[in-house]
Amino acid sequence: MEKILIIDDSAVQATHLKNILSEDYEVTTAQTAQEGLKQAHSGDYSLILLDVVMPEMDGFMLLKKLQEEVVTRHIPVILITSLTDIESEQRGLTLGAVDYISKPGHPLIVKARVNTHIKLYQYRKQVEYQSMTDQLTGVANRRRHDLYSLTKWQEATRLQIPFSICMFDIDKFKVYNDTFGHPAGDKVISAVASTAAARLQRSTDFFARYGGEEFVAFLLGDSAEKAFAYLKEIRRDVENLHIPHNPNISQWVTISIGGITTIPKPETTYQTYLKMADAMLYDAKRLGRNRVVWMDEKIRQHVEK
Ligand code: GH3
Ligand code: MG
Ligand code: MG
Repeated sequence: MEKILIIDDSAVQATHLKNILSEDYEVTTAQTAQEGLKQAHSGDYSLILLDVVMPEMDGFMLLKKLQEEVVTRHIPVILITSLTDIESEQRGLTLGAVDYISKPGHPLIVKARVNTHIKLYQYRKQVEYQSMTDQLTGVANRRRHDLYSLTKWQEATRLQIPFSICMFDIDKFKVYNDTFGHPAGDKVISAVASTAAARLQRSTDFFARYGGEEFVAFLLGDSAEKAFAYLKEIRRDVENLHIPHNPNISQWVTISIGGITTIPKPETTYQTYLKMADAMLYDAKRLGRNRVVWMDEKIRQHVEK
């Protein structure tokens, strides 16, 4: 059930709206703008119904705050007010409200408008999700990686926690395609993606298809030693899928991984370290493939096997 937040200082008005909507939605109410803001931050709301006239912080001010913050800016807001003059309506819509309903709100009209905005919100979420997901494997795509890595890099810089970046690449995959065909190759890419994704499930982990037969992952909070050990396990998991490769290459399909762990400094960029992870991947290939090569915080290189 989609969640709706009603922010109104009048308990009577809030209850009136809640009664109209609670049959179809999970409705929460807040009596002050402050409380509403707190709720909007914590809950996973698909729509906010916001009263304009409230003591202390009014609806316009709260709407502005909601629009300014990354975590709340995507939530559609319908203003509910007794201010029927054109100016207030225009002000609300300019500030980013999606619609405007006059008090007390006829049940059928409230329902119809709310349903429409919930549907639009769901549609937008679905489109957004699809644009961030790789079609073949179902894992995050490069676009999502590019956006998310920036946020997480900033967070790790602020909190001064270790950040590990790694690049994966399937070994001699061109030969695999040439031997078994492209559709079989696609299945291998999917199998590798699910195997790695299954191991990178913590809220601080991220895994994406970077392109072709290449993947990228980052992990927050682990030492180089721990990350290196963990990625070796993932590499082994892929080998243990026992997908036959061209016998001239190797018995099973394998991957090489290059990674680096650092505590990000404000003057450094994610892209620089991603390039270094790629250089480690290059070394893993050069040293014989099916191995992990890692650079630790002190710029010492560790090679598996
Ligand atoms: P290396 O061990 O050095 O990585 O050798 P490689 O053959 O894997 O490297 P290369 O980058 O030369 O070839 C990558 C191959 O991956 C070429 C391309 O045909 C294949 N590939 C890229 N994207 C896809 C895809 O979506 N599906 C399939 N089936 N193959 C793909
Ligand atoms: Mg490649
Ligand atoms: Mg390859």
